[in-house]
Amino acid sequence: MNSEKTPENPAPPIGWGLIGASTIAAEHMLGAIRAQAGHEVVAVMSSSAQRGREYARKNAIASVPESLDALLANPQVQAVYISTTNELHKAQVLAAAAAGKHVLCEKPLALTVADAREMLAACQAAGVVMATNHHLRNAATHRKMRELIAQGAIGRPLFARVFHAVYLPAHLQGWRLERPQAGGGVILDITVHDADTLRFLLGAEPVEVVALSHSTALAKQGLEDGVMAVVRFDNGVLAQIHDAFSVRHAQTGIEIHGESGSLVGRNVMTQHPVGEVVLRDARGETLLPIAHENLYVRGVAAFCAAMRGDGPPAASAEDGVRSLATAVAVLHACKTGQRTPVIL
Ligand code: NDP
Repeated sequence: MNSEKTPENPAPPIGWGLIGASTIAAEHMLGAIRAQAGHEVVAVMSSSAQRGREYARKNAIASVPESLDALLANPQVQAVYISTTNELHKAQVLAAAAAGKHVLCEKPLALTVADAREMLAACQAAGVVMATNHHLRNAATHRKMRELIAQGAIGRPLFARVFHAVYLPAHLQGWRLERPQAGGGVILDITVHDADTLRFLLGAEPVEVVALSHSTALAKQGLEDGVMAVVRFDNGVLAQIHDAFSVRHAQTGIEIHGESGSLVGRNVMTQHPVGEVVLRDARGETLLPIAHENLYVRGVAAFCAAMRGDGPPAASAEDGVRSLATAVAVLHACKTGQRTPVIL
């Protein structure tokens, strides 16, 4: 039998199964997967058959399996994208690994570091790729900042400041504000992204944190909707983090201040390919050229390459474990008022 790819006999598409009929999948990830040549979304699984059917119809997805096992039994499905609420990720990743599917999982990977480690180990043992959907690493702005820091453009980095206080859009004001058991709260939602972005920019690891959080009218059930934290990194950098669901008119940003220069990223803690980066040093202020591209398309492309054995994903499972470890330390510091080590 001739199994070679020819124009008359193209390779079958690589099928993806969506685990979770979520907003992020509809708004960003479906398009990002469909932008990859030879990849196709073949199934979506929801805990509600009716919602699943409606979601599949709206998003032109062919199949709505009635269970996770049924989705994983589909031989067309070679990769899964998991974007359910956070408490469900662990069992779904373990099941996908057992079925031999590659896994792109949303952040936070889990609610505890031990669970996230177990997920990573299961994927390693099964020989499948596991990645974390930390999209900000794929932003051209952050990549430019990382490149310049590595080149020594600001000298030794000393401080970082993250401005990631936003207003949670009305259509997302559900479990994030009301369900601690689902991993709600701004720290598991946004601080994980900050931790990953700072690790990416600095090439350094968080070691300890101090933090305070509060809850305004938005979050309920003891969940926090605003936090300020300071993270010490193993290269000595002190990073100040401000995350919120309750701030309507702030602009996001990230700044890295070094001995001989400062990098200022404005409007860069976002899902969209926007924002600018300015380098300030003895020569003055330089607006850096940025070739923006879709963050999610780039992240999925790296994942698809990793499935082919061609390089690592943009953010690995280990990166997801590490960002979660920082968020867990921030949660602990807020609860206890204590300076808290980041424990891997
Ligand atoms: P959603 O609330 O949209 O979806 C989460 C789950 O809630 C879905 O799996 C679905 O369950 C259920 N659900 C969704 N809409 C409804 C509805 N109208 N009625 C009842 N149930 C509903 O969450 P997000 O898409 O915002 O987040 C999902 C995951 O993705 C989280 O882990 C989050 O942290 C992550 N995320 C990551 C982002 C990134 O940029 N990396 C950005 C946003 C979120 P079911 O599948 O059973 O139908």
